[in-house]
Amino acid sequence: MSKKLALSGGSRAVQSDPEDMFTWPIITKEDEDAVLEVLRRGAMSGTDVTRQFEKEFAGWQGTGYALGFCNGTASIQAAMHACKVGAGDEIICPSVTYWASAIQVFSLGGTVVFADIDPDSLCIDPKDIEKRITNRTKAIVAVHYLGHPADMDPIMEIAGRYNLKVIEDVSHAQGGVYKGKKLGTIGDVGAMSLMSGKSFATGEAGILVTDDCEIYERAMAFGHYDRFDENIHTDYLKPYAGLPMGGYKYRMHQLSAAVGRVQLKYYDRRCEEIRKAMNYFWDLLEGVPGIKAHRTSDSSSNMAGWYAARGIYKSDELEGLSVSRFTEAVRAEGVNNCYPGCNKPLHTHPLFINCDVYGHGKPTRIANSNYDVRELDKDLPVSMKFSSMVYSIPWFKHYRPEIIEEYANAFLKAAQNYKELLKDDKGNLESLGGWSTYFRR
Ligand SMILES: *Cc1c(COP(=O)(O)O)cnc(C)c1O
Repeated sequence: MSKKLALSGGSRAVQSDPEDMFTWPIITKEDEDAVLEVLRRGAMSGTDVTRQFEKEFAGWQGTGYALGFCNGTASIQAAMHACKVGAGDEIICPSVTYWASAIQVFSLGGTVVFADIDPDSLCIDPKDIEKRITNRTKAIVAVHYLGHPADMDPIMEIAGRYNLKVIEDVSHAQGGVYKGKKLGTIGDVGAMSLMSGKSFATGEAGILVTDDCEIYERAMAFGHYDRFDENIHTDYLKPYAGLPMGGYKYRMHQLSAAVGRVQLKYYDRRCEEIRKAMNYFWDLLEGVPGIKAHRTSDSSSNMAGWYAARGIYKSDELEGLSVSRFTEAVRAEGVNNCYPGCNKPLHTHPLFINCDVYGHGKPTRIANSNYDVRELDKDLPVSMKFSSMVYSIPWFKHYRPEIIEEYANAFLKAAQNYKELLKDDKGNLESLGGWSTYFRR
């Protein structure tokens, strides 16, 4: 391996063709056949395949119920409604997450109080939750961010003491494990995206899982009119059967359900290989100044599919080298999609500051509040520096050590040659990360 940076004319660390190392989802003839079967039967809008998928998914999760949705956003909104978040109520959600962990609460008449994230897990910091609880708080949204399990034990302890519901947003971490428990089964309800970019990829779809019959039925009543019938157990819902109480139509497209059934069969096996590859990558970089793995240290927890994998950047260990300059060097080594940042902290977006979405005559964020929840946004220090703390790393789908070594060497070279990089360091770009999946570069 050349020690000279590719930026300075050395040879690139990454030389091999990655072939299908990054291809996802893995689609075989079995997926294609399953889709064609639904298509030829004209059953795209039915629920027979979806119900099968739900049954199998619930079995895999280990929950009593699973309910399919048209996307993850809808499943999380239904989970909020199922937890009785309504007019004037508050949810507590990390500021650093994809927007669909939070914005739907506006449509329920509620609002969001943002909490800070932990600098190691990058998930909601349990120590920052309690001071944000008021008598209007109904639920905590715990996002297992970038595949890392949120620290659920203290979150559940706090929720128990204040009688709050816990919604797990599992969109980044389907199949992940926290202290021996599957993510999505620890809180009152788990909801997640199964969109085709996620690690559990079926197309456009989402799913809600729970052991609580009332939560399941409230979620169903909200947006599944055709399944909301006399068989419902929750008495107070019965008079409204037949129409969707939320006024939404949320059922899963059966082409997605068909793909989901096939993907589920192979998911654990594929995730195991991803984990082996990603852990090997991080093992190669263990102890390198400037570089820190974003992964679980607890042996009874795991990262499942490593969706949107990131590394933690330790600028102070490289005499303040900017993450923009660091990633520029890594890209030059052949890691084309290594960029700083990820989701920008939500509380800094004008939608959460001054936008009047529903014509209340005041910002929607405080439309039904009796105090200004935005005041609490001032105290989110880790969220504010998050974008300069992380950079994207390759998302390997296969364990092929020689190729993984080439990619790890790209990061190693950048970190080891930091003094040279400091010379031309213009600092971080003004805007790191973005609001959606496709970030501004
Ligand atoms: C993708 C995502 C969602 C929303 O899912 P969709 O299927 O895209 O609607 C929700 N929360 C998080 C954390 C996500 O990444």
